Amino acid sequence: MELLYEGKAKKVYSTDTENVLRIEYKNDATAFNGVKKDNIEGKGILNNLFSSFFFEMLAGKGIKSHFIKKISQTEQLVQSVTIIPLEVIVRNVAAGTLAKRIGKEEGYLMRRPIIELCYKNDALGDPMLNDDHIEVLDIATQFELQEIKAKALEINEVLIAYFKNFNIDLIDFKLEFGKTADGKILLADEISPDTCRLWDATTKQKFDKDVFRRDIAPLRETYQALADKLGIS
Ligand code: 5GP
Repeated sequence: MELLYEGKAKKVYSTDTENVLRIEYKNDATAFNGVKKDNIEGKGILNNLFSSFFFEMLAGKGIKSHFIKKISQTEQLVQSVTIIPLEVIVRNVAAGTLAKRIGKEEGYLMRRPIIELCYKNDALGDPMLNDDHIEVLDIATQFELQEIKAKALEINEVLIAYFKNFNIDLIDFKLEFGKTADGKILLADEISPDTCRLWDATTKQKFDKDVFRRDIAPLRETYQALADKLGIS
C-alpha cells in the first residue's frame, strides 16, 4: 500500500478500506526538533503497545480516538483524519520548557492542570499560540478549541487516575487531534512515553523520553521497565 506520510516516529500508509489508514511505529528516536537522533531496536514495538493500550483504555471511558485496532507488533489501523496542526500540551507539574519559561524548579506542582497550545510546525520550532492566533489563522474555531481543551482535560483525569495505581505521576503530555470527513473532532497521533512525562511518585525516576533527551538512561530498557510496571504486553 502507498506510503502517504513519514513523520519522525511513524509512517502512514493507505489501505484498501476507505477512510482507514495503517500506521507503522518506527524505531527512530528524535529530540530537539530532530537535532538529536538515534535508531533504537524495539522502540516501535513498545510505542505501538503503549499507544494501542491507552487508546483502548480511553475508548472504554467513552473518549473516542482515531484508533481502530492493533494489527501487528508495530502497526495499527486508524480512522483517517485531517490533523489539526496543534500540539495540545497538558501540564500538571512544571517541567521541561515550562519550568525554564517561568523560572521554577522542575517538579513545581501547579494548583490545577494547564493547557498550552503550540503550532505544529517544525520549520517554526512549534511556537506557542493563543486562542486568538488559532482562530484568526483558521487552525480551529473557538468552538472547536473549547471542545479540544475539554477533551484534553478529561483525558488528563483518566490518565492521572490510571498511573496513580502504579505510583506514577503524570507530569505533562502532548496530544494531537484530527477532524473526520464529517467534521467530528477525534483524538489522534499517539500516547506513549515519547509524548508524556512520567515520574515515579516516590523516587522521581523518569519513565519517558527525557531519559533519551538528557542521556539519563537507555530508552528501550526504560520503556520496557514502564511496560512491565504497568503489566502491558
Ligand atoms: P516541553 O514543552 O516541556 O518540551 O514538553 C511538554 C510535554 O509535551 C512533554 O511531555 C513532551 O514529551 C511533549 N511534547 C511537546 N512537544 C513534543 C513533540 O514535538 N514531540 C513529542 N514526542 N512530544 C512533545
